[in-house]
Amino acid sequence: MAAESCLENILNPDLKSQTKEEIEARFKELNEPLYRVQQLLEWVYLRRVTTWEAMTNLPKSLREKLAQIYSLQIPKLARKQGSTDSTQKFLWHLADGNFIESVLIPANPALYGEATDRHTLCVSTQVGCAYGCKFCASGLEGWKRNLTVHEIVEQVLGVERWASEHLKDETRERMVNNLVIMGMGEPLANYDNLIKALTILNAPWGMSIGARKITISTSGLVPQIRKLADEPFQFRLAISLHGATDEVRARIMPVNRKYPLKELAAACDDYQKKKGKMITLEYILIAGVNDALSQIKPLAQLSHRFHAKVNLIPYNKVDGLPWERPDEATQEKFLSALVRENVPATLRREKGHDIDAACGQLRLKTERELKGLANAA
Ligand code: SAH
Ligand code: SF4
Repeated sequence: MAAESCLENILNPDLKSQTKEEIEARFKELNEPLYRVQQLLEWVYLRRVTTWEAMTNLPKSLREKLAQIYSLQIPKLARKQGSTDSTQKFLWHLADGNFIESVLIPANPALYGEATDRHTLCVSTQVGCAYGCKFCASGLEGWKRNLTVHEIVEQVLGVERWASEHLKDETRERMVNNLVIMGMGEPLANYDNLIKALTILNAPWGMSIGARKITISTSGLVPQIRKLADEPFQFRLAISLHGATDEVRARIMPVNRKYPLKELAAACDDYQKKKGKMITLEYILIAGVNDALSQIKPLAQLSHRFHAKVNLIPYNKVDGLPWERPDEATQEKFLSALVRENVPATLRREKGHDIDAACGQLRLKTERELKGLANAA
């Protein structure tokens, strides 16, 4: 019994992993008035305080009770890269020593169908990734664990806290108004935690980020795409296609052997029927791998079938991997060929290639540096 209660203490749920309804149920058990729940949620999601002591309009006795039943974990900002007017990467140090990344992308032309992009945050969902796409830094050292609900939610809160301290012109209540679930990990492989975290980030009592401003990116987990289609949310879905034929796709994405294009396309049909025009196809251009014009017709077919826009992304080089992005002329040729097929397509012509490197790389670099330090010691 003693051991059990000790375990309960360690396993106290983090407050930011709880929905309003769950907290209300707990307050009822504690015989606390329910209007206090709203006050509590405002401290967490509006003022974004990090301690119980800061919640000054809650009675001390209630704060003490809450501290007994909930934890309030705040990942530490281990490293930040990039300048305030460009893409910025945040590397978070989690309670168990792992690192994850979030990337803040300032106002840019709408990439995922929204006309009013202001600040988009790219959020991670796992430490590492089990899917091992050949070109990707996140999968390089395998999968370590799923992120918890509060670790997903905290990425948004942490960036908001940083913004209110560092961006002097930020007078609004919230800065992040678009989320892309495209950081480290395969979001649909951490399905339950993802959906709960997005429920909290979407809720009016939480971070109030509209479901249509949330894009979930997946390498193509068919059963979970079908499950997502049945959820009561209008999330946008980005499919990491990167090859429009099984032959090309399977060479770089092992997941294609489990869920070949035919099955993936059928699941996307289902999503599209239930949610409308909410699908984007992501296509990284990798020199000599998937940039041949033979991909154009099958890619155009898929785009027309789901009424999906195609985002072409020149590959970001990853240290230790042999892949390269094609030269600009090849990128433009691929884009024009798609446009000739009446595909709504964009090509990301980003500068700052070095800082802008894809998610997963800052973590890898930091872990390698730490290992180097440990070996040298
Ligand atoms: N696991 C999910 C979401 C995370 S990856 C998925 O695969 O969709 C987010 C996006 O970044 C994916 O489209 C992925 O293919 C892409 N990506 C990974 N490594 C990249 C790199 N080096 N350059 C450009 N895009 C990359
Ligand atoms: Fe995992 Fe996505 Fe990277 Fe593939 S592209 S290894 S699914 S994070």
